[in-house]
Amino acid sequence: MIDTHAHLFLPEFAKDLDEVVRRAKQTGITKILLPNIDETTIDPLHQTVKLYPEYFYPMMGLHPLSIKDNWHDQLAIIKTHLDKQQYVAVGEVGLDFYRDYGMPRNVQEQVLETQLEWALEKGLPVSLHTRNAIDRTIEIVSQYAKKGLKGVFHCFTGTYDQARKILDLGFYLGIGGVITFPKVKLGEEVIKKVGLDGIVLETDAPYLAPQPRRGRRNESAYLKYVAEFLAKLLNIPVEKVDAITTQNALNLFPLPPTDDIGQDT
Ligand SMILES: [Zn+2]
Repeated sequence: MIDTHAHLFLPEFAKDLDEVVRRAKQTGITKILLPNIDETTIDPLHQTVKLYPEYFYPMMGLHPLSIKDNWHDQLAIIKTHLDKQQYVAVGEVGLDFYRDYGMPRNVQEQVLETQLEWALEKGLPVSLHTRNAIDRTIEIVSQYAKKGLKGVFHCFTGTYDQARKILDLGFYLGIGGVITFPKVKLGEEVIKKVGLDGIVLETDAPYLAPQPRRGRRNESAYLKYVAEFLAKLLNIPVEKVDAITTQNALNLFPLPPTDDIGQDT
């Protein structure tokens, strides 16, 4: 399995990252993708990747909720890094219209579009965060998908219609702990209808731990609960969930080929 979205560079993992990695490998996680958040997390991100260069793969981007008044400067920093070294995606980027916690919508959209342009330029996929903004994000992304942009709607919790549109654009759905929450029946219905084509697994660690670990710090090893949940939901072996979602992640992200699933290296 590949954890396509985990923030293991955050302070929540400072004390026991080695243990977190050990448990992830033991669980059969072969790679972990680390999306950046903003200019303050770039150093921790790079330091963390250096510790496990064959296991951690960084993304570079500015998260919508981190956009400040000086966003021109923030974007310039992100761009400098994108030009300097290799990343597996532009992320995490997107739109967050929830309770207007973030910057005005037009600013968020401008920051998103700038980063989508960069992704196209670099030939990289994007990792998209959307909250109360799926339809608008789909609208914007559609223009770029026509030019060849690919990406994932991380932590997808939308409707079947939204899922269909996203998959028709050639984009992927990132499925994590939220699918296991008893009250999120919508997600189950969507997965039953779309199946696993276009699904990639993710934890969003340290956030959104799946049942039965809900409420605790999330970590990559808990991805197995998501995989097991999907296997049960679709009535297929968990190995099949692993194989399909791993292949999807390898199709989307520029990653080296993965070793045998479950191999403990
Ligand atoms: Zn995230």
